[in-house]
Amino acid sequence: MKKTSLYFAAALLLLVSCKGKKEENVLQYYATPNPYEIANVTMPPVDNEVRNVIIMIGDGMGLEQVSCAWVVNHGKLNLDHFPYVGISRTWCTDKLITDSGAGGTAISSGKKTAYSHVGTAPDNSDIPSVLVKAQQLGKKTGVAVTCHFADATPCDFCCHNEYRYNQDDLIADYVECGVDYLAGGGLDWFTVNRKDGRDITKEMASAGYTVALTEEELMAAELPVIGILAPDNLPVAMERGDLYRHTVTHGLDILSRESGDKGFVMMLEGSCIDDWLHGNDIGKAMEELLDFDRTIGDVLEWAAADGHTLVVVTADHATGCLTLQDGDLEKGEIGVFFASESHNGIAVPFYAWGPGSDAFNGIRENEDWGQLIASFVK
Ligand SMILES: [Zn+2]
Repeated sequence: MKKTSLYFAAALLLLVSCKGKKEENVLQYYATPNPYEIANVTMPPVDNEVRNVIIMIGDGMGLEQVSCAWVVNHGKLNLDHFPYVGISRTWCTDKLITDSGAGGTAISSGKKTAYSHVGTAPDNSDIPSVLVKAQQLGKKTGVAVTCHFADATPCDFCCHNEYRYNQDDLIADYVECGVDYLAGGGLDWFTVNRKDGRDITKEMASAGYTVALTEEELMAAELPVIGILAPDNLPVAMERGDLYRHTVTHGLDILSRESGDKGFVMMLEGSCIDDWLHGNDIGKAMEELLDFDRTIGDVLEWAAADGHTLVVVTADHATGCLTLQDGDLEKGEIGVFFASESHNGIAVPFYAWGPGSDAFNGIRENEDWGQLIASFVK
């Protein structure tokens, strides 16, 4: 090879290897103003009967994000309570690096699918989520998220479309999803954002739902109910106080009360961790993750008192190529680099707690974890 073509090849290699990288890496430091004590819980025996299943998804929450949050909260997280842990591979059928549509569908349905698909197979046929299985068994079902309802993960559990940005169609699917308790944000997606002029809140009401637009209305409503508590996503963690946690604990109480011995299945998402990782804002991402971890603490306290609830926590993918480069455990301070503003292909953790949790271990595909979850819905 001539010298000039060698230089050309080297330049090309450099160009290709830098694809998706940020131009300049800046070490960001963060410490939370609000560290917290973790819940004090004792896990019920693993051989207790599983009546309820709670699936918690931290969007974009890889082990690197969890490790950072652990330092920020001075070396403790409610996630530390989980005795059974595994690894989940997140690739989708047509790409190595998944989106939340395909990543969440693998968990919700036990089937990997193509990029951007939501509750549909690569051939665009609908795949039922674990919530449908629960409904067929006479169980109650619920979803509580911090994002707007047109976002991918709640849609992975309630809706069907081959393209996650067909959001008018996705929102319309909620009318017939049959989920008893829905809480999140995104009123504009039901009303003014729509190109077809439909008001889906009216259609939800005609289908029998109470449409609650405030926390107070949500707490007062009977099932089925949809709480749409913001025009878009819920306010950011630092501004929403305990709003998300209240929607979760209220959901657990009402679903448990109304389902009796049959039990319920609920999906809870710390949705906006991912948004701030895309934005490379470590402070806002950490506050979302810490709010999610506090929610995990609430869920464990509830489940410890119940004794028949399996709790699993995982992520659909990791985001931001985050690296923990510096910090101080005593001060709760981290110094991090983001190497990307996109999702990445690193495997994510899978945590299980409660009756049945000892089945959840090893290195598995995301769809296999989904099938394992569904096997406890019976
Ligand atoms: Zn994302």
